[in-house]
Amino acid sequence: MTTIFGRIIKKELPAEVVFENDRFLAIKDIYPIAPVHLLIMPKKEFKNLQAMQEEDLKLFPELIEIAQKLAEEFDVEEGYRLLTNNGESAGQTILHLHFHLIGGRPLGAMG
Ligand code: 5GP
Repeated sequence: MTTIFGRIIKKELPAEVVFENDRFLAIKDIYPIAPVHLLIMPKKEFKNLQAMQEEDLKLFPELIEIAQKLAEEFDVEEGYRLLTNNGESAGQTILHLHFHLIGGRPLGAMG
């Protein structure tokens, strides 16, 4: 099922792109909850972590590398949160796997 993010990946919808290569896209969140709020997503469509197959897990080293580079670029490398909401009861609203990179203010404990 194509989602908003699927359409952003295909350039059918606009977004503020902060990183892109053949496998990944990273954009600014349209409703940021912190001064830095980026969304890093594989271009391949997975609903969420649970939908990934074993062969897809090799995407993770690059995902982490992209997060590290963006954290430096946006000057939050000393403190940021990288998380994914897996499933509607965890707060997932867009059913295309994405990781939030959040920082730029004290984030406190996870609630
Ligand atoms: P989720 O709730 O699925 O973990 O995260 C979805 C995120 O996508 C939310 O933080 C929301 O603000 C963001 N979002 C929703 N629609 C759009 C959009 O059209 N463009 C961008 N850049 N972000 C969006």
